[in-house]
Amino acid sequence: MFVVFRCSCGRHLYSPEDAKTRTCPCGKRTTLSKTRVLANAEDARAAGEIVRKLQLGEHGMTGFKSAKL
Ligand SMILES: [Zn+2]
Repeated sequence: MFVVFRCSCGRHLYSPEDAKTRTCPCGKRTTLSKTRVLANAEDARAAGEIVRKLQLGEHGMTGFKSAKL
């Protein structure tokens, strides 16, 4: 499983669920256990799709199921 989350810079990123940290292109390292997970995906491809959709529009996420927190 992969998790999708958002860096404090606003970028959406994904990472394997068992990873401890993920470094964003902005240089900030996010600790996965401390960040808010936006969505889960079966594999890297699905996670990439979700990230792409999130980047396309925060407001019009039609057909996209986000994790309710
Ligand atoms: Zn960032």
